[in-house]
Amino acid sequence: MDSVGTAAREESLDPENWEEMRLLGHRMVDQMMDYLEHVRDRPVWQPIPAGVTGQFHKPLPSAPEGVERSYQDFLRYVLPYPTGNIHPRFWGWVMGNGTAFSMLAEMLAAGMNLNQGGGAQAGSLVEMQVLDWCKEMLGLPGTASGILVSGGSMANLVGLAVARNAKAGYNIRSEGVRGAPRAMVLYASTETHSSVQKGVELLGLGSKAIHKIAVNSRFEIDTSLLREAIHEDRSRGLEPFCVVGNAGTVNTGATDDLTALADLCRQEGLWFHVDGAFGALAALSPELRRIVSGIECADSLAFDLHKWMSMPYEVGCTLVKDAVAHRRAFSLTPDYLEHTTRGIAGSDVWLSDYGVQLSRGFRALKVWMSIKEHGIEKFGRIIRQNVEQARYLADRISREPELELLAPVPMNIVCFRYCGAGGERGELDDLNRELLFELHEKGIAAPSYTILDGKYALRVCITNHRSIRKDYDLLADEVIRIGRELQKRGGGVL
Ligand SMILES: *Cc1c(COP(=O)(O)O)cnc(C)c1O
Repeated sequence: MDSVGTAAREESLDPENWEEMRLLGHRMVDQMMDYLEHVRDRPVWQPIPAGVTGQFHKPLPSAPEGVERSYQDFLRYVLPYPTGNIHPRFWGWVMGNGTAFSMLAEMLAAGMNLNQGGGAQAGSLVEMQVLDWCKEMLGLPGTASGILVSGGSMANLVGLAVARNAKAGYNIRSEGVRGAPRAMVLYASTETHSSVQKGVELLGLGSKAIHKIAVNSRFEIDTSLLREAIHEDRSRGLEPFCVVGNAGTVNTGATDDLTALADLCRQEGLWFHVDGAFGALAALSPELRRIVSGIECADSLAFDLHKWMSMPYEVGCTLVKDAVAHRRAFSLTPDYLEHTTRGIAGSDVWLSDYGVQLSRGFRALKVWMSIKEHGIEKFGRIIRQNVEQARYLADRISREPELELLAPVPMNIVCFRYCGAGGERGELDDLNRELLFELHEKGIAAPSYTILDGKYALRVCITNHRSIRKDYDLLADEVIRIGRELQKRGGGVL
C-alpha cells in the first residue's frame, strides 16, 4: 500500500447509509403528524415516572448507539412527557401550540443550517421580509429596524438596551453605568412581567432603578401617579429615561393606556418601550385593534411569535423606531467581521449588528413560511376567537353561583376560583390550589395560577388555536365537580 492508503481513515458525521436515514426521516414525519393529529385524545399532561427519570442519569456514551436506538429512546422517554402546551385544554402561563407546517419549516431551517449573523445569503432576506411584515402588522413605519430573538425576555432586553444607551446622554458603551452623572430610572406598572426586571438588572441599572407604579381596578397603570413619580424623581436628582407600557399583562391581560403613555413620554422626553409579548398581536384583529391603540407610538416594541402566533419555540421580536439608535447599541465590527462589497460578506444586512448574538439560527423561516401558509388575516381570526372564548368562559363563570370571577376580562385571560359554600380566605386558597393539582395530575386541563388582591386564582390564558367552546364547558364542569368533592372532604384533607 502507498502512504495515502495507510493513513488513518478520514471520517465525517454524514450517514453511512443515506437510504436508511431517509426512511427513518419518513417514519419520523409520519409519527409526528400522528402525534399532532391525535393530541386531543391524550391527557393534557402526565407526571414523569421514576423509571423514566432514571433514563437520564446514564454515563456519556463513548461508542455509537445508533440512530434507531436514539430514536426509540426519544419515543419512549421524551415524547410522552411534554409540558402539555400543544393540547387543546392547555391554558397555563402564556404558551403557544405550534403548527404542523411550522414544525416542517424548522426541519428545513436545520437542514440548511445557515448562520443568520449576516452576509449575502437568502436567510437575511427572509428575516428582513419577516421584520417588514411585523412592522406592518403592528403599525410601525417601514424605516424602523428590528430583529428576531429567542422570545419576549430577550426582546425586552434588546429594547431596553437601546433605550438606556439612547437616553444616557453620554457614551454608556465605553463608560458603563458608573459614568452616569445621575442614576437612571425607568417606570412600569406593578403588573409588569419579571423579564423587564431581569433585563434592567442585566443592563447594570439594578432592579431598584424600576419605579413600580400602582394600577387601577382594571390592572392598568395609573398615569397620574406615573407623572407625579417622574417629577418627584427629577427633583430628587434622578434621571428618568424610559416608561415601559404593557399590551396584555401576564396576570389578567390588561393593557395600559398606551396613547396616554406615549403622550407623556413625548412631553417628558422619555423613551417609550412596550412589552406586548402576547397582547401586541391583538392588533391583527380589526375588532380588537383598539385595545392596543397607541402601540404604534412605541420607540421600541417587544413581542413574541411563539405565543399567540403559534410558532414553535423559540421566536420573539424587537422593533425599534430609530434604526440608527438600534444599530448604535449593538454594532461592533472587528477586522475579522468586516463587511465587504463582494463575496459572501458582501451584504448590507448584518443582523448581528442589532442584537446580542453573532451566530444566529434561522428562526425567520418558520415565520415566513407560516404567514405565507395561512395569510395574516387567519391569525387575526384565531386571536379574536380566543378572546371570544375567554368571554364565553367568563360568562359561564358569572352564571355559576359556585364560581367567582376575580378580575375583569379585557382580552384572553380569565382569573377565577371555586367558592362553593364559601369559606375563609386561606381555606379557599388551599382548596383551589388542590383543585388545580387535580386538573393537572388527572390530565383534564391545564390552567395556571396567580394571586390577585391576595386571593389565589385559577388563571386561564387562551393563546390556543386548538381549543373549542366545549373545552371551556368541560373545564367549568370539572372545576365544579372537583371543588364540591374537595369541599365535601373538608378540612381534614386540606
Ligand atoms: C411571556 C411574556 C414575557 C417573556 O417572554 P418569553 O418569550 O417567555 O421570554 C414577557 N412579557 C409578557 C407580558 C409575557 O407574557
